[in-house]
Amino acid sequence: MIKLDKVTKVYPDGTEAVKEVSFEVAKGELCVLLGPSGCGKTTSMKMVNRLIPITSGGIYINGVDNTEMDVNELRRDIGYAIQEIGLFPHMTVGRNIETVPELKGWPKDRRREKAEELLELVGLSPAELIDKYPNELSGGQCQRVGVARALGADPPILLMDEPFGAIDPITRARLQDEFLKIQQQIEKTIILVTHDIYEAIKMGDKIALMKEGQLVQYDTPANLLYRPKNEFVEDFVGADRALKGLQLIRAKEVMGSSPPTVKSD
Ligand code: ADP
Ligand code: MG
Repeated sequence: MIKLDKVTKVYPDGTEAVKEVSFEVAKGELCVLLGPSGCGKTTSMKMVNRLIPITSGGIYINGVDNTEMDVNELRRDIGYAIQEIGLFPHMTVGRNIETVPELKGWPKDRRREKAEELLELVGLSPAELIDKYPNELSGGQCQRVGVARALGADPPILLMDEPFGAIDPITRARLQDEFLKIQQQIEKTIILVTHDIYEAIKMGDKIALMKEGQLVQYDTPANLLYRPKNEFVEDFVGADRALKGLQLIRAKEVMGSSPPTVKSD
């Protein structure tokens, strides 16, 4: 679905932000780009929808080189949610969500219906909020609207850069849970950027751990925790990785089906 092949980015000032990074995200999978600040996560993500031009290598969407696609169409087919939310302040919640459907030429009724449906999906009341402006909403509500807007025209792909970043831990955990539920229904192909190992373990089908522009390990959360490839991975996931791994295991999966019994005699 999304394939990065030896992707390299050198900024005009000579900064080598991304170095020969290769990985593939299968259809319906959520891939987390993880790593310390400045390791190249945002740059890697923004090359997928060509917000940043690639220096060398290739990025393929369903096998098609993204530099050969019409850039506007490419972006309309890829939902984009960022930490700073980026809602248009002069537009109501409804119109914010309708932006891409409008660009795609959907009729007004269908756009409105979609906006209402998406607000409900992210746990907001359309009746209450659809005609409000972003500055009348709380941070958590704005972030939800940001996610709803990214889903606007039902794009097969979502790019999310720290989408749950700017909110308090409790609301964040709730939004993550809700988003995972939504993802079970909508099955988008997602690249999500975070520097938070807990978020990565919780959200990712796969995690791409980066360091200084390079991809260090691309693996399932469990393998990252239990089979770290080197010391950097080990340090990054933390000394309590065994404990973190417990998040991934359901009691019923490890419970013996026939527990030992002892008779009273
Ligand atoms: P992350 O999202 O992992 O924090 P970024 O992709 O934003 O990292 O940045 C990767 C590296 O590229 C950093 O060293 C950063 O300073 C540098 N960088 C980012 N944007 C630019 C730019 N426009 N020009 C030059 N260097 C940049
Ligand atoms: Mg970033």
